[in-house]
Amino acid sequence: MPARAAAGRHVLNTLTTVLKAAERAAHWHSAQRRKGTAQEPYINHLLEVARLVAEATGGHDPNLVVAALLHDAIEDQPVSRAAIAQEFGEDVAALVMEATDDKSLPKEQRKRLQVEHAAEKSPRAALLKLADKTSNLATMAVSPPANWGMSRRLEYVQWARDVAAGLRVENAWLQERFADAADAAERAARG
Ligand code: ZN
Repeated sequence: MPARAAAGRHVLNTLTTVLKAAERAAHWHSAQRRKGTAQEPYINHLLEVARLVAEATGGHDPNLVVAALLHDAIEDQPVSRAAIAQEFGEDVAALVMEATDDKSLPKEQRKRLQVEHAAEKSPRAALLKLADKTSNLATMAVSPPANWGMSRRLEYVQWARDVAAGLRVENAWLQERFADAADAAERAARG
């Protein structure tokens, strides 16, 4: 096959896999809404995290983009690690597992464990986690949960900063997006 045709095929395969993951995510999360007052469809969050990861990696890590689209599938929906591994491969499944909290634990403990375990994340999973927190803070700034007062919102921003501080991410662009989102969420909370 001529080189140009081979390159075109490679791009098509990558796009198809990424779009298939977006399609699966939209299906799996179809009944889920974000927590904020705007009640956005959950897929909006997954697409935002995937886009942040794609930009942060300069498009060089399609598997991480796929994992970003699927990062809440196991945690929030009855989707198994095996199902993700079978459809998208071991690498994607392992990344999604690194992004998955143990929902059998109480919420406060899960939040504490996220801070404690941040430094143990692999660099790619850490990048995904930072993009996830960036998306959540950006939404917190414009559409916080209706029943959250100032102190709860400020506490959330501080917790997200504590998690981010532990993550081994060497990506100035994404760190800047995170810092901006945290500042915006904090300003919005103070009113
Ligand atoms: Zn998420």
